Amino acid sequence: MNPFTYTRCATVDEAIRARGASPDASFIGGGTNLLDLMKMGVERPSHLVDITRLPLQTIAEHAGGVRIGALVSNTDAANHALIRTRYPVLSEAILAGASQQLRNMATMGGNLLQRTRCYYFYDPSYRECNKRDPGSGCAAKQGYNRIHAILGASEECIAVHPSDMCVALSALDATVQVTGPNGERSIPMTEFHRLPGNKPQIDTNLHPGELITSIDLPGIPYAGRSHYLKVRDRNSYAFALVSVAAVLDLDANGTIREARIALGGVAHKPWRATKAETFLRGKGPEKSAIRAAAEAELAAAKPYEHNGFKVELARRSIVRAVMTAASLT
Ligand code: SF4
Repeated sequence: MNPFTYTRCATVDEAIRARGASPDASFIGGGTNLLDLMKMGVERPSHLVDITRLPLQTIAEHAGGVRIGALVSNTDAANHALIRTRYPVLSEAILAGASQQLRNMATMGGNLLQRTRCYYFYDPSYRECNKRDPGSGCAAKQGYNRIHAILGASEECIAVHPSDMCVALSALDATVQVTGPNGERSIPMTEFHRLPGNKPQIDTNLHPGELITSIDLPGIPYAGRSHYLKVRDRNSYAFALVSVAAVLDLDANGTIREARIALGGVAHKPWRATKAETFLRGKGPEKSAIRAAAEAELAAAKPYEHNGFKVELARRSIVRAVMTAASLT
């Protein structure tokens, strides 16, 4: 691990100033991903700004929805009564991620900033990785790419975003509140992460030095009818091969007024399934209609040598998640 210096801050302003004072500094909260990356030599900050004492640790009703402080632990968010009752898809998604020990330590803001688990990114003995070393190539394209993207990839990178929580936040149209050297701003969750394009080293649309302060969930009266489905190799402590967050608004006849669907494990960001959503509007939640919606969404899928199974897995997962959400009372 590279040597680094360390500062612990008590206020948001102090943290932003401390980060701004050294260009290659990093904020550290729970550190559950950053410390692994530092030990592997993938991340090499010269200075760590500890934000764990900042007053960003509450969950409260806000503007008709709920505001979750960036330093709330994943465990506390998943188990909070407001989240469990009003946004069960978010609670389910968080509890599907990592292990209990990691969820106790990991923060909501840090979860947003998780980096891909592409094997080649984590192992500097592989020289080709455009995300770790821009311009070096992509070892995964010709290598073992079973866990990689089927949607939205680029010639430069085919990695997928690893978070479960972010898939649910995308389906819920959450917004991320940030503060930086130029003040505060809100970033819609669907625009927070980016596709790799020709700059796969950049995961998000955060500006340099910006600090995540909270995540806002909008008031969605029907969000109780929601479900998170995660398909993975092991039943715990494994990243999604494919996951689906589904939120449904049904009318009195059971017709879908609105469907919100997001996919995990398939792209460089949580993939909002807008084609499937549009297809389902005005339809009944029958298997044939949902299957057709899933096929419309996956029509643009481009698998690689080892991950072709994900295309059909994603179709079937959409069907199962939407039917489960529709069956909820
Ligand atoms: Fe690196 Fe992306 Fe290629 Fe993985 S998929 S080796 S992260 S460039």
